Amino acid sequence: MPSGTDVTPVSNMIASRSSKNENTVVDLGTCRVGDGSLVIIAGPCAVESRDQMICLARILKKMGVSIIRGGAFKPRTSPYSFQGLGEEGLKILSAARAETGLPFVTEATDSRSLEIACRYADIIQIGSRNMQNFSLLREAGRSGKPVLLKRGFSSTLEEWLMAAEYIASEGNRKIIFCERGIRTFENYTRNTMDISAIPAIKELSHFPVVADPSHGTGRRSLVGPLARASVAAGADGLMLEVHENPPAALSDGPQSLYPAELEGLLPSLKALHSACVLQGRAV
Ligand code: PEP
Ligand code: MN
Repeated sequence: MPSGTDVTPVSNMIASRSSKNENTVVDLGTCRVGDGSLVIIAGPCAVESRDQMICLARILKKMGVSIIRGGAFKPRTSPYSFQGLGEEGLKILSAARAETGLPFVTEATDSRSLEIACRYADIIQIGSRNMQNFSLLREAGRSGKPVLLKRGFSSTLEEWLMAAEYIASEGNRKIIFCERGIRTFENYTRNTMDISAIPAIKELSHFPVVADPSHGTGRRSLVGPLARASVAAGADGLMLEVHENPPAALSDGPQSLYPAELEGLLPSLKALHSACVLQGRAV
């Protein structure tokens, strides 16, 4: 790092597009994020039980979903809300992977859960609330695991890019950005989905970006339209919360799609994606 200044020019950073013009592809073995395909990540907000997760994973696999999601360590606003099943949840996700062959992503909220999650997961999620937890970012970087880096809900694009730099500076180049909405004055939606962040972060960085309209809107009825908008804006993939019975979900039920809703949404996402590729958009 240069001395005499506390700000490294963004253009010199590993994560910057100016240091590597070609898109970085994060290869998970069974699928590649950032290669021009549209990757669908889906699953419940939180893993609730073995039966639930295995049954849902089978349904998602049949639909053509590429990556399963499920939280085992949940960063909940209230300490009295369901906090996740912890390591047991990771064992369940591993069983779902064995059943379907699909890799999974799960959140690590601190150093201890990161160490445990790394023993099971294919991708480590750093959540919105931890986007500027610099020691956790460094540890995630050192883990060598692919990292899904959610945007902090009050973070600028530059701060998000800097968070990716913390991971990259530890030698880890397997980073996937995830736009999940930011806090604005509007409260009809849980967050305001920043669609402009999708093409903007792709201008700023060579790492792929996926969009999460579930947290971005907080409303099931708005997930489909914002998922389509994200694909049209150039997202490399989508992360969608799905639950077999959303009203009974232990976390984020109001924004979780029913499996049939996801199935109904996928054809329009694929059609939009093909239209954008035909249009010759830089992906
Ligand atoms: C989640 O993916 O369930 C989650 C907690 O996301 P975020 O960090 O974006 O709120
Ligand atoms: Mn959630």
